Amino acid sequence: MLRAYPKAKSIKEIRNCFPSLAYTELAYLDNAASTQTVDSSIKAVSDYHYNYRANVHRGDFETSSIASEMYDNARIEIAKLINCEPYEIAFTKGTTHSLNIVTNWLQDDRKVIVTELEHHSLLMPWLKSGKTQNGGDLIVVPGSDYGDVSIEDFTKACRENPGSICAFLTQSNLTGMSLPWEHMVRIAKEYDCEVVIDACQSIGHKPMDVQANNIDWMAFSGHKMYASTGVGVLFHRGGFDDIDDAFDLGGGTAEHVDFDGYHLHSDYRKIEAGTPDIAGVHSIGAAAKWMQEIGYKDIQECEAEFFNMLDDKGLFNIPQLKLIGPITPRSVFSFVTEFNPSDLAGFLSFDKVCVRTGHMCAQPASRRYNEDNTGVFRISTAPYNNEHDCVKLVEGIWKAMEKMGFKNN
Ligand code: PMP
Repeated sequence: MLRAYPKAKSIKEIRNCFPSLAYTELAYLDNAASTQTVDSSIKAVSDYHYNYRANVHRGDFETSSIASEMYDNARIEIAKLINCEPYEIAFTKGTTHSLNIVTNWLQDDRKVIVTELEHHSLLMPWLKSGKTQNGGDLIVVPGSDYGDVSIEDFTKACRENPGSICAFLTQSNLTGMSLPWEHMVRIAKEYDCEVVIDACQSIGHKPMDVQANNIDWMAFSGHKMYASTGVGVLFHRGGFDDIDDAFDLGGGTAEHVDFDGYHLHSDYRKIEAGTPDIAGVHSIGAAAKWMQEIGYKDIQECEAEFFNMLDDKGLFNIPQLKLIGPITPRSVFSFVTEFNPSDLAGFLSFDKVCVRTGHMCAQPASRRYNEDNTGVFRISTAPYNNEHDCVKLVEGIWKAMEKMGFKNN
């Protein structure tokens, strides 16, 4: 059974919950791509494979019942994490899968309001369905100079297009800035819009209360919240009864099938077609439980402490690295560089510092903030990043820059 952790307060205590960080020299600063996996989540995966290896909701024997119970418990843990009912949660392969499913359902003649910052996972399914800016069905709220969007611009888009679908992310994986998403949802509702939220970057760092914020749809991934890859969540307010079609069809989705048709289950089962990623679901449940034990407050405090270390060490004063957005505590920092950012990342990799460069699967945003279109240099943090990571990063950057001919005065 899963081990319960004492409430962690410090970066050190949180770091101790991540076995991959125990004996490594790596400064892992690519958390916006994937976080490390928390101990209880790894244990849930291995417990499943060692002890409860069976299909779920299909077997008439004890291990299948245990695997099914743990699967159902994961739904309860996720529901507690985002403050909803378990029947409002469906397990998917991740944010991309969840957003494709929603877009597939919301095919009608409404306009769609997005922001300039969207990840391809949100944007491309709408484009595929024929909603484009040129065609007039896709309204794009511009990115602000601060790397978010202005409430005035978003309000204007809603006012001019009442009754639209508003689909947007809560934190940009490119600029790192959080959008004023709670306010945006309130405005969208004032103008009778349905809201689809991409919470992929926020879920590991900030509370995402779907009830308090009146969210209609929300998507996120396990691997951004300290759990396995290939598993994620689709939340729908009120459950899935009003959805009369399924994205994938197959085992587990139908109540009745004959040679003339089928009748789907009314609940989330119609979304979880085929044998799911059972170990993955156990893992995301365990991670959600761990996050509740730690609490978002402690997560944010640890991240703010790491931000102060970066600031004190001078990361934001390097003349050749221009931060997108203001110097404020957050989990993602992207820079426009005076040189090809992948050269810098390559040197850092020799020093065992893990960062990411490029367009971050958000090409429109990348073009907006980096006119010469070389991509950005991104550092992304988690509550386990410590002084060792900070020193390795900033000293590594200077070492690399000296090799590229820049002097630290
Ligand atoms: N949206 C945002 C904002 C993201 O950062 C990502 C992952 N980088 C995704 C969607 C897609 O997530 P996944 O690859 O887990 O489906």
